[in-house]
Parts: sequence; C-alpha cells; structure tokens
Amino acid sequence: MGADSEWESSFDGEPIAVLIGHGNIIPGLESALKGRVAGDTFEVVIAAADAYGDRQEGAIQRIAKKHFPPGTPLRAGAQTRIMTRFGARVVTVRKVGLTTVDVDLNHPLAGQSLAFRIQIVEVRAATDEEIAHRHAHGAGGQAHG
Ligand code: ZN
Repeated sequence: MGADSEWESSFDGEPIAVLIGHGNIIPGLESALKGRVAGDTFEVVIAAADAYGDRQEGAIQRIAKKHFPPGTPLRAGAQTRIMTRFGARVVTVRKVGLTTVDVDLNHPLAGQSLAFRIQIVEVRAATDEEIAHRHAHGAGGQAHG
C-alpha cells in the first residue's frame, strides 16, 4: 500500500465521535486532536511508532485450520480476524498448509506512517456514562444497549 492510498474515509458519511484520553484511538491521533475546536481543519502525519507500532519480525504464528471460522478466505495476503492469546486480532495470512495456516500477527498498518485529513465538527464534554464505558455514545459513537 502506498503512502497516499486512502485506507478509510468518513468524509462522505457521518462524522465519528471519539472519546479523547482513553486510548480509543492511536496515540498520535489523540494528541493531534487535543485542544481542537469545532471548525478546525488540518492534516497530520503520524509516525508508525505513534500509530500501530513498528512491525515485529517473527510475529508469525502457526494455527490449525480448524480454528478459523468457516468461510475464512485462506490464501496468502488475505486478512482475517481471529482470536489469539492477545484477544481478537486482525492478522494477515502468510502461508497455507495442508492442516495449518501461518499468520502474521502484526497489525496491517504496523510499520507505516499514517496521514489524516481531519475536520472537527463538534467538541463536547463527555458524559459520566461515556467515561465509565471508555468510549463515545450517541451520533457517531458506540451504539449498544
Ligand atoms: Zn457504552
């Protein structure tokens, strides 16, 4: 993936609500958002170390095929979400064997600096409930019962 390819955009849809100060987003983005006010528009480039971290060589794990949910695309380069001993992780399939699959535990964006174009739509105080849950509620936030 090139440095200028677009990974994800919310500009065509609803803005995203983020609770700042609780590790919901990558550290570099969190510090870039601090002190911003509604109407701010800016671009920021965040180094890998402040984004998804550097790539760890040797973070390859061999997993039995039966542990992948049915329908998982098992081919080299495919990304899939699996449960690891670190919790649910997005992993990249490296090698598919007869009964096992080698996956790369690095985050797909590890080792990459990330560029963001950001428009601040609204800044508001977090509610007590949001702080207790450690994420934003309401429009653009986490929807749950
Ligand atoms: Zn919640």
